[in-house]
Order: sequence, then structure tokens, then C-alpha cells
Amino acid sequence: MSEFRKAAKPRDEGMQGLRAAPRVDALMAGCPVHALRAKLKDAGLRPTRQRMALGLLLFAKGDRHLTAEKLYEEAQELRVPVSLATVYNGLHVFTEAGLLREVAVDGTKVYYDTNVTDHHHFLLEDRNMLIDIPALSIDRSVVPDLPDGMEIAAIDVVVRLRPKAPAAKAT
Ligand SMILES: [Zn+2]
Repeated sequence: MSEFRKAAKPRDEGMQGLRAAPRVDALMAGCPVHALRAKLKDAGLRPTRQRMALGLLLFAKGDRHLTAEKLYEEAQELRVPVSLATVYNGLHVFTEAGLLREVAVDGTKVYYDTNVTDHHHFLLEDRNMLIDIPALSIDRSVVPDLPDGMEIAAIDVVVRLRPKAPAAKAT
């Protein structure tokens, strides 16, 4: 009798574990696909398969700064079937909808920033990498007088960084 009870106990716990599993709604709330579909719809975009695929690459990993080429590379690595033209088009559509912010560096290189709030950047020139600077830490009084009838729409500061030259070694 006591043998049976001992054997039965873990099985009961197993069943309780199953019953205690989170409900489907709770699972969906933390699901990146579900969250992305809602994000696209909120921005007035139809969640097409390709937009969803690009969106998951862009938005499922926190704040990111990506060039179109880099995003295309990631898609290739993960075997997401999109062309470079689709990537450019998708980035353009997301930017127009306010889901991405373009950060132009050098006039030729454009990074797409998933953080669309007002902020600035450090550019690590040797690594082609952007790091966020909070907007609050730039003093607007450094801006010279504006032409008549104009107001500041946005201030985009890119502070270029390079590794310090190694100090000369004492011999
Ligand atoms: Zn940024």
C-alpha cells in the first residue's frame, strides 16, 4: 500500500504541473510574433509575411542600429527568404510609419534605429557601430541663433569616437 502511494505521488505532481501551465492569453502576451503583429497594426501597416519576417529581425532583440546591408545579411544567415530590394522597401515602409528612425552618417551610410525617441549617438568609427546618447544630455543652448521664421525640428548629434592611441611604452 505504502509502496503504491510513494509511486503515485510524483505522477500526481506531474499532472498538477500541467494544469498550472499559463493560459494561452498569457503566453501570447509575451510572444514576439503576437507583439509585432500588434505593433504593425497600430502603425497602420498590414502584417504581411515579409514585414513580419523583417520586423522580427529588427524589433525582437531590443534597441538596435542596423544598415540595410546588415539586416539583409542577418536574414540570409537565418534563411529568411527576402531580397535586398525587399529589405530596403521594408525599412522605408517601417520608417514612414514611424517604427524606425533613419540616422545618416557620412551622408552615404544610413543606420535604421529601432529607438524612435529623441536621442543622439556615439559612432565607433573603427567598428561602424552606433551607441545611444540620451537626448537630455545635449544642451540646446549650444545651437547658434536660428534663421528668422525657423524652429528646431530635431537635433541629431553624432559624436565620432576612435580608440585612444596606445601610450608610448617606457623602455
Ligand atoms: Zn539610437
